Amino acid sequence: MSISRSLLLQTSSKKFSTHIERKLEGKVAVITGAASGIGKETAAQFINHGAKVVIADIQRQLGQETASELGPNATFVPCDVTKESEISDVVDYAVSQHGQLDIMYNNAGIACRTPPSIVDLDLARFDRVMAINVRGVVAGIKHAARVMIPRGSGCILCTASVTGVIGGLAQPTYSTSKSSVIGIVKSVTAQLSKQGIRINCISPFAIPTPFSLDEMKHYFPRVEPQDLAKILHSASELKGAYCEPIDVANAALFLASEDAKFISGHNLVVDGGFTSFKSLNL
Ligand code: NAD
Repeated sequence: MSISRSLLLQTSSKKFSTHIERKLEGKVAVITGAASGIGKETAAQFINHGAKVVIADIQRQLGQETASELGPNATFVPCDVTKESEISDVVDYAVSQHGQLDIMYNNAGIACRTPPSIVDLDLARFDRVMAINVRGVVAGIKHAARVMIPRGSGCILCTASVTGVIGGLAQPTYSTSKSSVIGIVKSVTAQLSKQGIRINCISPFAIPTPFSLDEMKHYFPRVEPQDLAKILHSASELKGAYCEPIDVANAALFLASEDAKFISGHNLVVDGGFTSFKSLNL
């Protein structure tokens, strides 16, 4: 492996150095919701591994700032995933700028406040969550497949959630949206596999990002913003470790890379075992 195709890691000993393979050299990725949180961390990790990344997000200023921060291999394209034409445009932008689309990561999503009872469910909010978390993902899969099928290759990733696996955390709207993400992935796997395209989703546990911290403000109105992250960390803490954006970014890197060339239709749970504890009722 040449040094240009690897990251050079100096070890503490001057005698040794370790070459780490750049797993996405020459690949082109679109990541929705990449202006912040999990999407931003994944964009940084993909770029570290040699990819060019198109950041697609509804937040124009933050998206632009993120692209500048991540350097010349990141570009920002404004995109509201509820608008099919904007998803189509961002996919076409990646192809026209970089000649191909190898990885489509449908990651954008919003939360939904828990109603006291199903009787109080806000159906207008339900529709909005479905438009972003489900329809936006379906449109991303559709338009990625449109350009990947003629090439006979590609990788599609989607962010679901542990709530899509076990339901619960008393969030019927959000849980429904995320189990739908797992459902669409499993539903299209077979047809995409025949076209040389792999599709998988990732289900993270609670991570302090603007998404989750905004939501928590409503449950803990008297807690200072900096302490909300500590509450989330303590909820996901497992022997001193807790879920961070890099854990999801590393899962995405694995699934997008050749290391996962025979993995498709899978939901990779990134939760330190949380869903297993829940199913065992421990
Ligand atoms: P985040 O708020 O940091 O990032 C979400 C991004 O999505 C933001 O940049 C936002 O601008 C963008 N977005 C929202 N609506 C959009 C739209 N209509 N079109 C395009 N972009 C839009 O939050 P995050 O935690 O990084 O969330 C990323 C994904 O991870 C979401 O799908 C979320 O449901 C999922 N998730 C998060 C957690 C968590 O605890 N943070 C846990 C499980 C799953």
